[in-house]
Amino acid sequence: MKKHAIVAGNWKMYKTPTEGHDFVKDFVNLMLNIEDMEVIFCPPFSALFNIDVVLKETPYKLGAQNCHWKNEGALTGEVSVSMLKNCGVGYVIVGHSERRHIFNETDKWINKKVKAVLIGGLKPILCIGETLDQRKSNETKDVLFYQLKEDLNGVEKLEDVVIAYEPVWAIGTGETATTEQVSKAHKWVRDILLDLYSQDIAKDTSIIYGGSVKPENAGELFEIKDVNGFLIGGASLKIDSFKEIILTVNKKLKV
Ligand code: PEP
Repeated sequence: MKKHAIVAGNWKMYKTPTEGHDFVKDFVNLMLNIEDMEVIFCPPFSALFNIDVVLKETPYKLGAQNCHWKNEGALTGEVSVSMLKNCGVGYVIVGHSERRHIFNETDKWINKKVKAVLIGGLKPILCIGETLDQRKSNETKDVLFYQLKEDLNGVEKLEDVVIAYEPVWAIGTGETATTEQVSKAHKWVRDILLDLYSQDIAKDTSIIYGGSVKPENAGELFEIKDVNGFLIGGASLKIDSFKEIILTVNKKLKV
């Protein structure tokens, strides 16, 4: 039986501060039972402060979608960890596939970001995952190994790190990985953590899945042994679908 779950909603570049504020206000008013769960809203930077005001005194958490590793500087368009912290942020998504593939973020940068987030006292949600070509040429495990090794280089403890396995070909495409593919990949991630760290760290690190999770598939995906929750894009933008996924996970936690 799983004791804890993480469900994070990645809004990407959707919702104005006003829309985000109203969405979260309505969501909080649903008074969902989220016992034993971390439910995290990750809006665009511009909506963070407005949403933090609503989330204060609630069990919900606030996350950002990116950060820079420096504390301040002449870096037009960037936002630092301390700035995010001041907006009430507790988690930062790092290395999302859209950042890697559209904005050409390298593993070196991602590693600097992971470390900056941890030094700043926040928790990184580190995204890793293979492209379709890499999967087709049976490179998935090697890609996961490379990304984990590079992105976590110099990080000694993982108690504040969440790993999100997100196969690139399943993000925003409506194409979910099969339960067999997810199960295998999450087991590989645990095996890699065992290789790079220790048995305890491999066992205790939260590994969440992301890639077209919706109310219809959340139940069977959460039943997979090494899946500790979800990172959700599209389905986190609507109250009904995000709520359904949370209720499904919560119900499974009680079984
Ligand atoms: C994501 O943005 O991390 C994601 C998994 O998106 P979607 O759920 O839309 O595939």
